[in-house]
Amino acid sequence: MLLNECEISGLLGEERHYPSFLDGFKNDVKDKFNKKLNSMLKEGVMKSVFEISVKCEYCDKIRFDVTLTPSDKVSDLTLYSMHYRNETEFKDGKIQLPEMECNFPFDEKKNELKIILCDVFLTHELTHLFDDWMALKNGKESIFFDNVSLEKDNLAFFGKFQNNGFAKAFSDLIYMANRIEERAYLSEVFSELAYYGCNNKNCHEKMKETLAYRNMVEAKNNFDNELSSAEFPIIKVCLNMVKDVLKKLRIKYCGDNEKWQRNELKLWADRVFRRYMQRYYSIVGYYLDCKTKNTIKL
Ligand SMILES: [Zn+2]
Repeated sequence: MLLNECEISGLLGEERHYPSFLDGFKNDVKDKFNKKLNSMLKEGVMKSVFEISVKCEYCDKIRFDVTLTPSDKVSDLTLYSMHYRNETEFKDGKIQLPEMECNFPFDEKKNELKIILCDVFLTHELTHLFDDWMALKNGKESIFFDNVSLEKDNLAFFGKFQNNGFAKAFSDLIYMANRIEERAYLSEVFSELAYYGCNNKNCHEKMKETLAYRNMVEAKNNFDNELSSAEFPIIKVCLNMVKDVLKKLRIKYCGDNEKWQRNELKLWADRVFRRYMQRYYSIVGYYLDCKTKNTIKL
């Protein structure tokens, strides 16, 4: 179901569409990056660290740490991973050598990479780069610190509940609900829709192919399926991790009641899902609008 006009117009412009801050320099980065990847494939190099010079106001060079993994049967979602890192200084108004790390699956028979994954990767990580630059320029801490604490929380949580299906699903939802990650995921959508040839007729099918959609639906389904069998101590820890959100929602605390706590966690997950999907559908709506008017910029 697409959102109605009123709901769509209530969302902010920049978040609704392909982010304009990527214009101009993403294609430059993409060309150079793809050349490097193709030469890796040609020479059979599966892991490489290289630097690319870029023409933008955010930084002069980006360091890439790329691993290629042959994939025939395993799902893209399992093999594909990416990461933004900024451990360097902010000097002369620019981030000094940010690092982007990724693991791409590739088709071993055709010796080919999935072009769309490269695009998704660059869009996602360059969005982080821009957000980081904005934070540093305004005298705030790097967004990297935000995500480091998120990762630390998640790692500590996993340490306690290793190999637990519910803990994994909860942790995935927490990650996608993080405002920095959500922004980066949603930046990817516009170019993915264009890649899959999404239009007014096939949009209900095509929009389900994007990684941003598949990742969220998978995380939410796993959460719902695992919730009823999750043990109470895990529920308590999870609820504690999202208690600030619950406070904002003014949900009244009702003690150590197990049924209540399970229900609150379910409400939290539903809210995360709905908020994310609202934004997602609004991007689909904006994309279709641009397609009709023939004003798609990539
Ligand atoms: Zn990210």
